[in-house]
Amino acid sequence: MSKTKVVVLGAGYAGMRTIKELEKKNLDIDITLISKNNYHHESTALHEVAAGTSTAKDITFKINDVLDPKKVTFIEEEVTLINKDDKSVSLKNGETVPYDLLVIGLGFESESFGIKGVDEFGWPLVDIPTAQAAKKQLDKNLNNYQLSQDEKDLSIVVCGAGFTSIEYLGEITNRLPKISDEFNFPIDKVKITCIEAMPKLLPMFSEELSDYGIDVLKKRGVEFKVGTPIKEIKKDGVVYEENGELKEIKASTIIWTTGVRGSGVIGASGFAERRGRVMVNPDLTVPDYPEVYMIGDVSAVMDEKSGRPYPTTAQIAIVQADHVAKNIERRLQGKEQEAFEFVSQGTVASLGNNDGIAHAFDKDFKGYVASVMKKGIANKAVLQVSNFSTMMKKGRFDFYH
Ligand code: NAD
Repeated sequence: MSKTKVVVLGAGYAGMRTIKELEKKNLDIDITLISKNNYHHESTALHEVAAGTSTAKDITFKINDVLDPKKVTFIEEEVTLINKDDKSVSLKNGETVPYDLLVIGLGFESESFGIKGVDEFGWPLVDIPTAQAAKKQLDKNLNNYQLSQDEKDLSIVVCGAGFTSIEYLGEITNRLPKISDEFNFPIDKVKITCIEAMPKLLPMFSEELSDYGIDVLKKRGVEFKVGTPIKEIKKDGVVYEENGELKEIKASTIIWTTGVRGSGVIGASGFAERRGRVMVNPDLTVPDYPEVYMIGDVSAVMDEKSGRPYPTTAQIAIVQADHVAKNIERRLQGKEQEAFEFVSQGTVASLGNNDGIAHAFDKDFKGYVASVMKKGIANKAVLQVSNFSTMMKKGRFDFYH
């Protein structure tokens, strides 16, 4: 009898962790990983690449360096379609890969919400190329000011005030004062504006923590506009609504971080989805497709307590991957699938290298200690999706400066 073919799509936190766990279990199966790049990137650190405080090399590692080639076949190719009724996956190169069990961890894309001009003029932070492009745009504009003397070259608008925006603001406000001499721009003329649609900033933290975070960024020069939904992105400006009136801020650098959606492959493949996410069964399989598991940013798992799906984070993606590997093992042993349970270990947001806010162990933390927690969590996540030597090479150990 031929071995069960397990195919894992995507080499983000969800896919890589599934592979590492399946490797450990030594099951008598064929494992294939398919991902469009030959590297894994830490998506929780893309804002650092975009701000220019880390490089792509700092936050990536080669997939082949951490896989066991005796146990896993890696195909570097883009998935275009999941043929769920034929139990196969179509790739961009025209090939088709059959599966018995499929684990989909294809991650996220930028969400424009259909707002005019976003796709043309907004700079999203969703993968390594987009983060590098956003950094290039920022540096080009700062450099250009000397020639243009145009104030909009020193104006940066960050759209939305979610996790990515806040962490990006933390990094640029650390970096810009350090590079103003080299790039020859007056730091006091830099204008950084963050525009948020909702009436409250950082609602996922306590009042005290969110006040602290906002205060840190305000002291570093960030101006927040709150309750002001963005209506249009132009080549050189952002239009938003304030008290029923449309207003515009001129800017050459426009960072689009208003939220994400699951991979477009999910909708294209005909799964019942909303914003690229499928509401999965308690065992993390897809309704009507018991051989297909969906995890990470393409999945929505209902939090019975809040009545809403859990937010998508690296933390939940890793715990889902552990669960799927366990359920695959149980399935091969003829045992019943177990229901997924999630207990959040907490939430942390950095505010640059040495500052941050965190809620963990039922307590609030802020400042340096929160930044150390953030680095510890990032290092643990790298270890969970790679191996010890990769974690030692790529981890964050600059706790003291
Ligand atoms: P997000 O959904 O967390 O935040 C987007 C923000 O943009 C929201 O505050 C939203 O109200 C605002 N917004 C949306 N449309 C707008 C508009 N038209 N005008 C103005 N504001 C608008 O998205 P994100 O920051 O990209 O994060 C994506 C996911 O990744 C989230 O689930 C988040 O929890 C997770 N994440 C977590 C961390 C962390 O835990 N440290 C870091 C980064 C991302």
